[in-house]
Amino acid sequence: MSCAGKVYFVKASESDSVDEVKKRLSKLCDESRVLDCVKGGDTTAVKIHFGDEGNTGHVKPEYAGVVCRKLIENGSVPFLADTNTLYRGRRTNSADHIKLAHEHGFTKKACGAEVVVPDDAKRGNVADVEIDGSFFKIAKVASVFLRAGSLVSLAHFKGHMMTGFGGALKNIGMGCASREGKLAQHSEIAPIVDLKKCEGCMECVKSCPADAIYKKSGRIVIDSSKCIGCATCIAACVHGAIGVPWESGGMKIQEKMIEYASAVLLKKKGKAAFINFAMKITKECDCLAKDDPRIAPDVGIFASLDPVSIDRACYDAVVRSCGKDIFKEAHPDRDGSKQLKYAAQMGLGSLDYELIEL
Ligand code: SF4
Ligand code: SF4
Repeated sequence: MSCAGKVYFVKASESDSVDEVKKRLSKLCDESRVLDCVKGGDTTAVKIHFGDEGNTGHVKPEYAGVVCRKLIENGSVPFLADTNTLYRGRRTNSADHIKLAHEHGFTKKACGAEVVVPDDAKRGNVADVEIDGSFFKIAKVASVFLRAGSLVSLAHFKGHMMTGFGGALKNIGMGCASREGKLAQHSEIAPIVDLKKCEGCMECVKSCPADAIYKKSGRIVIDSSKCIGCATCIAACVHGAIGVPWESGGMKIQEKMIEYASAVLLKKKGKAAFINFAMKITKECDCLAKDDPRIAPDVGIFASLDPVSIDRACYDAVVRSCGKDIFKEAHPDRDGSKQLKYAAQMGLGSLDYELIEL
């Protein structure tokens, strides 16, 4: 059965009990058969966002557990995976990130799958993937997603300060990138130093592999012409003085993110499935280390083999349920539809879809 362009849907809301949502998710998996793309004997990377500390919008471990157990029934060995972040926090390094995932309930006991967060600094954990993009010819991706036999994206569909909204395409494009890959996508907004927070400790200068950071007249300066975008300095500064100015610039970030998505998805043709949770739809993404309030009513859970169709269907459904484009209202300078159009242009899927309510 070909499911390309078909998007399956079950209504679900946070006001339903977790057991009720699990039941509907189980029905969605069984009747859509999107998980049939996983072959017995494969390992399956289940790409998920474990949520930053204090965040409550992320996909719940109970729901990840439903999907992982279906994959096990299909004869696969699933693992839950994410990559480390550019910004400083509990998801910057693998040990802290895994610990936080466990604290949020993503344990082998609860989900039937190990939590994997590869350390970018270790040789072999980052792969250079050749792509034919307008911005990139090489994408730096966490190799764990490429080595797995198949890929399942479990994404929270919500707003985003840089991309308007984010679902399956963002989960893969930004979420499977190494930290260097993430910074390359944000390259128009290279690291900057907050001089008010800077203690002058010189750790960033020592950490920079490109000698792009130096001290001048007592101030730390980043030479953007030398910067290779590795993001090491962000992690090295324990004072949180180096960061990315997320709120400005980055107008091409959606196209760059899609080129990165292509690096993973074109290698997983016929072996990838996408499940989006349009519930607890927040203004910002799950990287926000706090409880971000919802901006739209809960819609439900979507499943497809097409990452473009599923994100478009979610976007349309949320706009319909709000009676207005709530994402444009939340982020007037961002047009999230750019990512969908560019993904269709790159051959990742179809802008047209058939919505099948189960
Ligand atoms: S590591 Fe941070 S605090 Fe130390 S000099 Fe660099 S920017 Fe300043
Ligand atoms: S991102 Fe990497 S290359 Fe650029 S300034 Fe920071 S440490 Fe240096």
